[in-house]
Amino acid sequence: MKHFNNKNLVYKIVSLSIILCLVFFVIPEMAWARPGGGHSYSGGNSGGGGGGDDIAGLLIYLLLSLPPEISIPLVIIIIVLYWLSKRRKSGNAQTISSVPTYQNKSSELHQIEAKIERLKISDPNFSRVLFLDFITSIYYKYYSNFSKKEFKDLKPFLSENLFQSSIKVAPYSRSINEIVIGNINLESIFENNAYLSITADINSNYTLNMGGRNTRFILTERWTFNRKKGLVSKGPEQMRDLKCPNCGAASNFSDTGQCAYCDTFIESGEMQWMVEQINILSQETFTNQGLGYYAQEVGTDYPTIVQPAINVYINQFVSNHLLSDWNSYWTNFTDNIAVRYFNEIYKSWSNLQWGKVRHLLADRLYDSYNFWIENYKKNEIYNRLEKINIQRIDMAAVEVDQYYESFTVRIFASCLDYTETTSGKLIGGSKSQPRLFSEYWTFIRRTGVEKKESEFSLNNCPNCGAPADKMGQAAVCEYCSTKISNGDFSWILARIVQDEEYTG
Ligand SMILES: [Zn+2]
Ligand SMILES: [Zn+2]
Repeated sequence: MKHFNNKNLVYKIVSLSIILCLVFFVIPEMAWARPGGGHSYSGGNSGGGGGGDDIAGLLIYLLLSLPPEISIPLVIIIIVLYWLSKRRKSGNAQTISSVPTYQNKSSELHQIEAKIERLKISDPNFSRVLFLDFITSIYYKYYSNFSKKEFKDLKPFLSENLFQSSIKVAPYSRSINEIVIGNINLESIFENNAYLSITADINSNYTLNMGGRNTRFILTERWTFNRKKGLVSKGPEQMRDLKCPNCGAASNFSDTGQCAYCDTFIESGEMQWMVEQINILSQETFTNQGLGYYAQEVGTDYPTIVQPAINVYINQFVSNHLLSDWNSYWTNFTDNIAVRYFNEIYKSWSNLQWGKVRHLLADRLYDSYNFWIENYKKNEIYNRLEKINIQRIDMAAVEVDQYYESFTVRIFASCLDYTETTSGKLIGGSKSQPRLFSEYWTFIRRTGVEKKESEFSLNNCPNCGAPADKMGQAAVCEYCSTKISNGDFSWILARIVQDEEYTG
């Protein structure tokens, strides 16, 4: 009897070790916490998704249900196979993108920033904010119209190859909806004899309906945009939405690319950007099972990635706004904008009341985080962020162009970060141990908007001054019927990037 008990104890210890191994090695891969803290769509923490979770569940089930003599060897075999398959997968992934270090991220930033500044010399209307809006608009239309007749309206915005191949691969039973676009990073800018090219990595998720079955995917795609050399960018109207590049009417084209309003045949890339090609860098099935798991914070101790020659742009900002000195403006900006937005936005996140900060957020940021808010609501859980304490704010980048000015700041903060059910049951994080983290926040504002930061109210429409309580999903104030989220009236938050992912 005693002997049997000892043997049983050995099995129990081995089983427990295996479960602990699973907890440490498998589960952290799908860990998420804090908006963007892993909720971003870029590889990083959000990877793994359902796969790891299914395996962990299966192994625990085997250990609990089968006799240990059978379950333990079986579990070991599965773990080895799983580990081998993961290793092969990550080996493949590295051929697409290697893990960036601080040094090469910083030098990538130097290159891309220098190229954007050079581009602005030949194209003074180029605005990164508007170019990202253009990408958002075409990405959304490309997928939402994939198998629809409206797809032809994209003709002037796609290369001939892409247009033809997209039509061929879109079987009519297939549709894509609930498209959510996360961060977009400009990866490279280059020129050949005919074209100027920009590649952008786009993080997104969408639901694919195929044969009546819905699957939600999280993706990273690399899109290459081409435009005839020597062109000057279109203004905000034509960059925010797809319009005829000749007459500016809403995009309505024949399948040969003739505008229904001005009758002009628009050749792709001749007057406006076109998508040359699309590469899918990663695609994973989305599941809700990771909500509430926490990953170790990475990158908080990395040095701040500061834009090369930032002082040149600070001086430009100072002279554009006739400021007496930069330091007092900076204090004013951090106190009245950065700190207040940070606290207000995270308070709304914590309470799942994302609509309360609608007027403070650009559309893409609002939509991508709203996706997570909706998932929390559906699962009846809250990600609580309490006792937020901002410790330091670093200046990372200043950008000024014809249409927009933007500030990117790195905010160091700590807070209690935990996930609980609506009934208060803790399912992740800690209610007593503060978590230290840092994030890069980018604020944008339309150039020429001169509103004193100290007079800005978090609770009112920055245009008409009415309460900011009727902004709807699109951030159109119901009192003055004006869209607020383009930054036309005040600073709005356009982007949140985790410290380990920031490349400028
Ligand atoms: Zn036209
Ligand atoms: Zn208003």
